[in-house]
Amino acid sequence: NSVTYSSGHWAPFTSKLKSNHAHQLRLITLLTDDIRQEKLYFEIQPQIHLADNRIVGGEILIRWHNEHLGQVSPAEFIPLAEQTGLIYKLTDMLLEKVFQWSSSNPSALTAQTLSINISALDLVQEDFSERVENLLHRHNLPANKFTIEITETSIFQNSAIVDHNVKKLHSAGFKLAIDDFGVGYSSMQNLVSLATDELKIDQFFVMNLIADSQSQTLCRSMINLSKELNIISVAEGIESEEVLKLLQAWQCQVGQGYHLHRPMSPAKYLMLLEEKDQPLSPPTNRA
Ligand code: C2E
Ligand code: MG
Ligand code: MG
Ligand code: MG
Repeated sequence: NSVTYSSGHWAPFTSKLKSNHAHQLRLITLLTDDIRQEKLYFEIQPQIHLADNRIVGGEILIRWHNEHLGQVSPAEFIPLAEQTGLIYKLTDMLLEKVFQWSSSNPSALTAQTLSINISALDLVQEDFSERVENLLHRHNLPANKFTIEITETSIFQNSAIVDHNVKKLHSAGFKLAIDDFGVGYSSMQNLVSLATDELKIDQFFVMNLIADSQSQTLCRSMINLSKELNIISVAEGIESEEVLKLLQAWQCQVGQGYHLHRPMSPAKYLMLLEEKDQPLSPPTNRA
């Protein structure tokens, strides 16, 4: 009995599937092929300055549509790519696509930045920072328009190579965001020693804001901690107006979420930037 997916829908992730070795093998085979043929693509989710609604950038989110499986969620295939070493090729492919797109669409970077998720495994590759820098230079792009998102778990590795890579990328001009903050093990020391630019509060806390007073306390603490350390606070998973209002009141700086914008195609993202950049309409004559 093979597991089939209706195309266009996220593949459900259940423990039953997880334990299904045949299914995993098939996924790995198909993923290997599609990465080799560079069939994976990306969407962009806008990031909003919460005080004035400006779009300050976008997060690059990888997407995989396979002809047999349909749409598969990165929450399912990224761990698999990490377990099998496919992640290196995947990251290279994605960076190449993002840089390629950025250099042919400079309007994406005039007033905005782009964030890219990097796996913990990428960061333990000795030559990772050099490869990223070379790739960037080949496309003639400025590093300070890009933010590298890494999860707490990657810095918790406490490895000299991770440190080397992060510092090298930093001195090249890349910004650094700690993703999914609050659910892992990173310490305040990590935030300081890695000279973090952004702290992304995990969506778990944000989504539970209304119902759960502990999440409120934790969110506020993380926002205040960022403020004290001069780090930009980013809340992800904003799904309602109530949550947005709370975060604005607490002066969280940047937000992402379905209530603001869903991840969208790069073309749509450019259109959105254009719409928002329209000059203000001239004042109407008051008769
Ligand atoms: P992440 O980096 O924390 O990305 C945020 C995830 O939250 C994205 O899921 C996004 O679509 C989703 N999201 C945004 N707003 C909302 C909201 O209001 N409600 C809900 N429920 N979800 C929201 P996505 O695209 O499925 O990605 C899942 C994870 O996969 C990412 O979490 C990231 O860890 C990983 N990932 C995605 N793209 C890449 C990539 O290019 N490379 C690597 N290494 N990992 C990636
Ligand atoms: Mg992220
Ligand atoms: Mg996150
Ligand atoms: Mg996440």
